[in-house]
Amino acid sequence: MTKKIETDVLIIGSGPAGYTAAIYAARANLKPHLVSGLEPGGQLTITTDVENYPGFEDVIQGPWLMEQMKEQALKVGTEFHHDIVNKVELDKNPFNAETDSGMEFIAKSIIIATGAQARWLNLESENKFKGFGISACATCDGFFFKDQNIIVVGGGNSAVEEALYLTNFASKVTLVHRRDKLRAEKILQERLFKHPKIDVIWNHVVDEFIGANEPISLKEVKLRNVNDNAEKIIYATGAFIAIGHDPATSLFKNKIKMDNENYIITKPDSTETNIKGVYAAGDVKDKIFRQAVTAAGMGCMAALEAEKYIAENY
Ligand code: NAP
Repeated sequence: MTKKIETDVLIIGSGPAGYTAAIYAARANLKPHLVSGLEPGGQLTITTDVENYPGFEDVIQGPWLMEQMKEQALKVGTEFHHDIVNKVELDKNPFNAETDSGMEFIAKSIIIATGAQARWLNLESENKFKGFGISACATCDGFFFKDQNIIVVGGGNSAVEEALYLTNFASKVTLVHRRDKLRAEKILQERLFKHPKIDVIWNHVVDEFIGANEPISLKEVKLRNVNDNAEKIIYATGAFIAIGHDPATSLFKNKIKMDNENYIITKPDSTETNIKGVYAAGDVKDKIFRQAVTAAGMGCMAALEAEKYIAENY
């Protein structure tokens, strides 16, 4: 049977944007309900060291930081639901949202903080070995690759951080990048280039993952030089794909204004979407900064804007 919940603020998503929105909305006495999604805590729960979130002199762990944010949100009065929103109706206010477990929210305002998800190469052979040698999360799976040869695909901060992290387990890490320059921060590049366990293969893409069927296991990776199409095979029993993210916005397709990469569009200096009373905060609307601290800032903005909207309209 459907359980109906009326609320001033429904927050969808549980990364830094969602939890910060919850903290501010709860402290404004709006009694927010937060639906966490499949991976409570978001992307930071699959990160290790965090050394750029202000307020901590020493390195902290991503999962710990998210647990602290959750505890803080609960303490000030957020109702937390480990559930998945599978349908939203935004064409009239109050808005409507339904979840997998059969809850129906009737909300005066909605804060979308659903974040972004890892991108894959979309090769058939990648699907075959996902979970059997191929992963998009070094923190989650690196441990399983002790003393093995691993490749990391990508040239951004994530790829370089993952390559460095994987040296804790692997005997050798090869970073495979499609260009001859990394886009990762200089300080990370320096650490990468001087690490004795890491090699970089420039100007190459993965064409195929090759391995055994029984048991399913990765053995080799076929690479292609983007300049002359020459192929080469390297020995690797693990591959980590770190080529960026896509916003988690399929739930809102054709219901809210998005850009050509499906990021939600918000008004300048605001988290308000094209629908009054609906706000978007964090990676779901930000492809530039994508930091925990910027997401948290946007979560705060969204809650303050929702509070103002409710005060003026109800
Ligand atoms: P990113 O910066 O978008 O980098 C993605 C990388 O993957 C790029 O080097 C790109 O190549 C490559 N790539 C994309 N599609 C590919 C494909 N189909 N095949 C092969 N290579 C492909 O993504 P990210 O590293 O995940 O970082 C995302 C954001 O989070 C960034 O703003 C980053 O600064 C931030 N971040 C920050 C930290 C930190 O501050 N500690 C840690 C992680 C991430 P090209 O270079 O050729 O485009």
